[in-house]
Amino acid sequence: MAYLTLKERLLIPTYDNPKYARSGQVVIDMEKCNGCGNCAMICPGGALYIAGIGKDKKAHLMEDDFPNCMSCNDCAAMCPRDAVKVSQTYDFGRFYKILHRGGLSAPRKF
Ligand code: SF4
Ligand code: SF4
Repeated sequence: MAYLTLKERLLIPTYDNPKYARSGQVVIDMEKCNGCGNCAMICPGGALYIAGIGKDKKAHLMEDDFPNCMSCNDCAAMCPRDAVKVSQTYDFGRFYKILHRGGLSAPRKF
């Protein structure tokens, strides 16, 4: 079991502040993306949106210092064209002792 130090206990986590935590990130291959919207519909964090019309209709990650991406990989699992991938996992490690964290892995396909 991991214990927090007194200093760590006195800090109040601000989960969406990039100074204190790191959000997940995804990369979207604009060549492959056809803007179908599956990823934006499934994203539990609402971190993706679809913009553009016709051939320019594409998925985008919210332009935010701290997009609400939790690197769950749901978008990658739902993408029919393999156009979206998690590129960075979230990290609240400054406040929470990490007991176990696996590496990035391929999403479960449905
Ligand atoms: S699911 Fe894939 S192809 Fe569809 S909008 Fe998202 S990234 Fe693009
Ligand atoms: S990895 Fe999960 S939280 Fe992040 S953009 Fe994809 S579906 Fe949303």
